[in-house]
Amino acid sequence: MNDSRSNSILEDRVLQAGEEWSRVLAPGQILRIVDLEGYQAVDFLCYNAKDPAERYNAADTMKINGSIFIGKGAKIYSDMGNALFTVIEDSCGRHDTIGGCCSNEANRLRYGAKDGPNCRDNFVRALTRHGLGKKDIVANINFFMFVPVNPDGSMSVGLDAGHSSAGDRVELRAETDVLAVLSNCPQIHNAVNNFSPTPIRVTVFDRT
Ligand SMILES: [Zn+2]
Repeated sequence: MNDSRSNSILEDRVLQAGEEWSRVLAPGQILRIVDLEGYQAVDFLCYNAKDPAERYNAADTMKINGSIFIGKGAKIYSDMGNALFTVIEDSCGRHDTIGGCCSNEANRLRYGAKDGPNCRDNFVRALTRHGLGKKDIVANINFFMFVPVNPDGSMSVGLDAGHSSAGDRVELRAETDVLAVLSNCPQIHNAVNNFSPTPIRVTVFDRT
């Protein structure tokens, strides 16, 4: 873990539960996400900032890394076979690639819930700032979220809380000019946030 005092901080903020965030990072800049209280899912998308038609591809990222989980050393690949980010630090160990984001539609189907805060709407809100929108949402990463898959192929999003603890962090190094978009998941209908969404800290820095 690197002490932030040795880094050049470009942005440092706490996002409350349900808030979204986006930023373009230059190559070499680092995005640190800290799960301040534990058991908090952070839904994440990324794009080639210079050509957003190129974006994160979940299947290729799983295939090339050889795992359905993302952890330290994993690269986050685009649909053009380029690494957008490398995971350079990770105190949690496993991050989800298959559960996708929560939405009003899914919450209605799964829980009979009325419309409320959700990651899909957050993604749309953030993407709109960058000239993108609903059609640009693809299968996303969920940092700190845990979706176990059983030997028979069964899986369930939301039965298990994540296995992150307070202060767990992940650090992503931009490998090109990357637009990063994230939603600090407001889900309250299942266990992904342990039924109580909490704040995260997002820091962008250059390592000197
Ligand atoms: Zn969510």
